[in-house]
Amino acid sequence: MQLFKSQVVRVTNSLSGKKEVFNPIKAGYIGMYVCGPTVYSNVHLGNCRTFMSFDMIYRYFKHLGFKVRYVRNITDAGHLENDADEGEDKIAKKAKLEQIEPMEVVQRYTVDFHNTLQQFNFLPPSIEPTATGHIIEQIEIIKDILAKGFAYEVNGSVYFDVVKFNETNEYGKLSGRKLEDMIANTRALAAQDEKKNPQDFALWKKAEPQHIMRWPSPWGDGFPGWHLECTAMSTKYLGETFDIHGGGMDLKFPHHECEIAQAEASNQKSPVNYWLHANMLTLNGKKMSKSTGNNLYPSEIFSGDNNLLSKPYSPAVVRFFMLQAHYTSILDLSDDALLASEKGYSRLMEALGNLESLVATKKGEFDIEAWRNNCYKAMNDDFNTPILISHLFEAVKHINLIKENKERISESDKELLQKTIHEFIFDVLGIENQSAMEGDSNTLSGVVELLIELRNSARINKDFATSDKIRDELIALGIQLKDGKEGTTFSIN
Ligand SMILES: [Zn+2]
Repeated sequence: MQLFKSQVVRVTNSLSGKKEVFNPIKAGYIGMYVCGPTVYSNVHLGNCRTFMSFDMIYRYFKHLGFKVRYVRNITDAGHLENDADEGEDKIAKKAKLEQIEPMEVVQRYTVDFHNTLQQFNFLPPSIEPTATGHIIEQIEIIKDILAKGFAYEVNGSVYFDVVKFNETNEYGKLSGRKLEDMIANTRALAAQDEKKNPQDFALWKKAEPQHIMRWPSPWGDGFPGWHLECTAMSTKYLGETFDIHGGGMDLKFPHHECEIAQAEASNQKSPVNYWLHANMLTLNGKKMSKSTGNNLYPSEIFSGDNNLLSKPYSPAVVRFFMLQAHYTSILDLSDDALLASEKGYSRLMEALGNLESLVATKKGEFDIEAWRNNCYKAMNDDFNTPILISHLFEAVKHINLIKENKERISESDKELLQKTIHEFIFDVLGIENQSAMEGDSNTLSGVVELLIELRNSARINKDFATSDKIRDELIALGIQLKDGKEGTTFSIN
């Protein structure tokens, strides 16, 4: 179904600072790039919120019938500790600390990232490219920018010449900064600094002998600058100009500003039509920070193993909580807020159950068509999930009234309500019905327990053919039986 033909979506474009009508370059198709994680530590909750915002946006566009190519990268090299091209590579530092290979660090935290996102029910992106898999493409862009005169080589490193670029282009247009102000507010370059101007940024950095992540290049052994990978991978998979580029608010400057500069210097084209930025997550009113202890990992929320929480919360509840705020607003997480979301989530899921068993009679008071239009209106208005959720609760109110025979619903209205509410909760918001899933696993446990009992009686009757058959068939299904003193237990792989 091509719903997008009848729905007009408006998005807040950071480039203009305004809400604009979204028009893709090619009708029916969307190219979307989102900056992925630097895989040197467990993914934190703030990052999960950013990726969840774009997961929801991706889901809504798909729901509208667009064919979306969603590219989200993995930064596995080149991200230094400091945005001013100083400090160690984050991944190499961790590798040294743990005395393992950098790629072991990358593997460990990429797996953690995928597992966590899967728990939150994220859809995988269409392409998930890595920086180290695109070194050649990055070198080609550097050569191009050098040839066009917007970069210079010093001592095996290549820097982007921001001042030169700003003569013909506008550096700072995304973050609303002026280069003159930046220059006035920065310290003078130290004598040993290789850069011409403090605002210049590295496209390629020479690797010192002790640097473990290094690749050969026309300028000697080194590694690419962090900003460059996103330009290389977005251009490769989405073209020189594509529809949407997303990321966390904190990436607007310098990362995204530098991406624009690199692409414009290389292609003389603006790379992105709509820049979307997701806002941050705070914890108990304060910025999350490992050093102050005001910090929470997804696994700690799911297990409840953190003294900031009174109990564990399921991934679906946390997802519901996050989508109750607009993606461009700051969201504060607290135990109270999660408790409230959990109640709301249960009410919503309970109403879904009630909806199935409603008896349709004749047309009632609840105008489903108008309600459905309001749901679309909310999402079309810059993906306003809190308003959408308030409409979902409007439906909950009516479902409960119909259940109590205080209102009526016709068969066709009931069908439309079911279809719409399922689409918005499960497809668009991506919120899973955890109790249904728990119900499934309870059923499975019951069946396995029954088979264990049958196997035990077969063994007592010396019917080993049957008892072995039960054990082997269960193994084939990924269920292991373990006989112990306390009886037989099982585990599911
Ligand atoms: Zn990026």
